[in-house]
Amino acid sequence: MGNKIYTIVTLGSHSALQILKGAKDEGFKTVVVATPDRISLYRSYSNFIDKILEINSWEEFPKLEKDLLKKNCIIIPHGSFVAYLGMDENKKMKVPYFGNKLVLDWEENRKMQREWMEKSGIKVPHRFRKGDKIDRQVIVKSYGAAGGKGYFTARNQKEFDDKLKNYSEERFIVQEYVIGVPVYFHFFYSPLTKKVEVMSIDKRYETNVDSLGRIPAQNQKGLNIEPTFEVVANIPMAVRESMLTEAVLMAERVIETSQTLIPPKGLFGPFCLETIITSSEEIYIIEISARIVAGTNCFINGSPYTYLNYDEPMSTGRRIAREIKNAIKQNRLKEVLD
Ligand code: AMP
Ligand code: AMP
Repeated sequence: MGNKIYTIVTLGSHSALQILKGAKDEGFKTVVVATPDRISLYRSYSNFIDKILEINSWEEFPKLEKDLLKKNCIIIPHGSFVAYLGMDENKKMKVPYFGNKLVLDWEENRKMQREWMEKSGIKVPHRFRKGDKIDRQVIVKSYGAAGGKGYFTARNQKEFDDKLKNYSEERFIVQEYVIGVPVYFHFFYSPLTKKVEVMSIDKRYETNVDSLGRIPAQNQKGLNIEPTFEVVANIPMAVRESMLTEAVLMAERVIETSQTLIPPKGLFGPFCLETIITSSEEIYIIEISARIVAGTNCFINGSPYTYLNYDEPMSTGRRIAREIKNAIKQNRLKEVLD
């Protein structure tokens, strides 16, 4: 099989286990690059991880470039690539990369991302610009894939001004805080079949915001608790089919728009529409994640939605490897790599 000569490599964190298991199931060789503290985890999965390349810190990853090129590696990016390596290092690496690196700017820069969402005709929370009066509850968010780290909320202008004084992030956006439930829809767009597939759906378990209801408001009084949004885990979901219909239409438009904004390839592979659904059933998109999200880790053995399409367990990680395998077979590998 042609894929035997390729090795799938990723950084040891985020969704690495899923990606490497999927790659092995599809017949690839697998390598994980990990820091010393994480070696024992990956060693315990030697059934599908062929090799562990140890580095002392994530910054050393680019030094492996020559070695990875020699091994005929394909990098599968996930949430840690930009978070740990930085945008420039990530772009500079010459090792073949599954995905379109041009999309990285559109994902990281929240203003560009907003243009993308607006052009796709999807509902987005109101954005406040510099100098705008804060006339409702807002959430302030830093740039990049931070997993909810470094966010704060404010109810009005005064609270916003006070909190901003102690905020260390330089680049952030101020967004209307939408009251509703968070729902994260995971998709896969195949440039080979030109189809958007529903992969799975999750909600996040965020500390401390998801625990605030555990203590009645009267007991919280005086404790001075601020809601924070740091993600700890993910919880699988199945949504009302009528809402799934709308999510799929939005996903298709997001892909179409990406092809005009970021031509010719646009966004392909795994992506996620992160939404808040209100009590009037309006779906607001708070963010597009243009890569595999960690919520797909709930579905390493497949999801109810992938079961409809595949007769075998199909995780998002495995779907990526399947795409690469199909591209190799059809002699179209260039179309899925950057
Ligand atoms: P880690 O795997 O904990 O080293 O995280 C790598 C990067 O991915 C960090 O920026 C995290 O904040 C982010 N991340 C990890 N797990 C999740 C998750 N379940 N949901 C969202 N972001 C995550
Ligand atoms: P994000 O990093 O954009 O995925 O946001 C992390 C978490 O912050 C979400 O899972 C929500 O709990 C919360 N959040 C972000 N934006 C909003 C918003 N506009 N309205 C309400 N909650 C939000």
